[in-house]
Amino acid sequence: MTAIALTIAGSDSGGGAGIQADIKTFSALGVYGTSVLTAITAQNTLGVTAIENLSPGIIRAQIDAVLSDIAVGAIKIGMVSTVETIGTIAEALIRWQRQAVVDPVMVATSGDPLLQPEAVEALRAQLLPLASVLTPNLPEAALLTGTSVAETEREMAMQAEMLLKLGPAAVLIKGGHGHTSLSTDLLFDGTSVTRFDGPRLATTHDHGTGCTLAAAIAGGLAKGLDLQTAIGEAKEYLTAAMAAADGLNVGRGRGPVHH
Ligand code: PLP
Repeated sequence: MTAIALTIAGSDSGGGAGIQADIKTFSALGVYGTSVLTAITAQNTLGVTAIENLSPGIIRAQIDAVLSDIAVGAIKIGMVSTVETIGTIAEALIRWQRQAVVDPVMVATSGDPLLQPEAVEALRAQLLPLASVLTPNLPEAALLTGTSVAETEREMAMQAEMLLKLGPAAVLIKGGHGHTSLSTDLLFDGTSVTRFDGPRLATTHDHGTGCTLAAAIAGGLAKGLDLQTAIGEAKEYLTAAMAAADGLNVGRGRGPVHH
């Protein structure tokens, strides 16, 4: 049987991140992708020029339409924009009870904000407790814990401990924004720590990296992989997509990774 995953995220008209990156990732991994749009961004490789957040009613209707009919094995949650969107998704997740990879998206690769400042607390209080795994990068982990950006694995571990107290079953802190020679992601589940080492790649075409990793993890979970294996395979997929990014040549700005 084909594994099925769902992405709940924003649309990136430039095709590099958000819903578009997620569906490309699912397809590349042999997973059937379904999607619930939370927001529409007018965006290219240079930046975001407009955002329209969709209403709670249409977000709820999309989730119910997909999950009442289609056997979704795991959900990826990305751009959630507003307090109302977060409440709607949390309520639906409690009703539908699925494994959820929560990627706490806050800014676009271009630096444009994708989460309203007043929604950070709702994300912490309502979505984090429902996550099978939370996937912050270093700046997101710092913002969610009210600490400064971690520079050592010890500091990443302290932030993971604080985040686990908010309720996710596991936290994957991604080292991609760090300055060491390896890009190491650390998975904390409250009992053990698992390392995922990858090469630090020189490309500036890294648009959609966070989305791609989270979608690949959700795809792996939908296939029935355990979390460690799903993350290991997702990191391999992302590393290959980043290594091929310079050959893609899309747009004049910070381009997308190659699916
Ligand atoms: N979701 C949407 C709709 C976006 O446009 C972006 C970035 O521009 C993101 C998520 C996060 O992107 P990344 O995967 O590069 O962290």
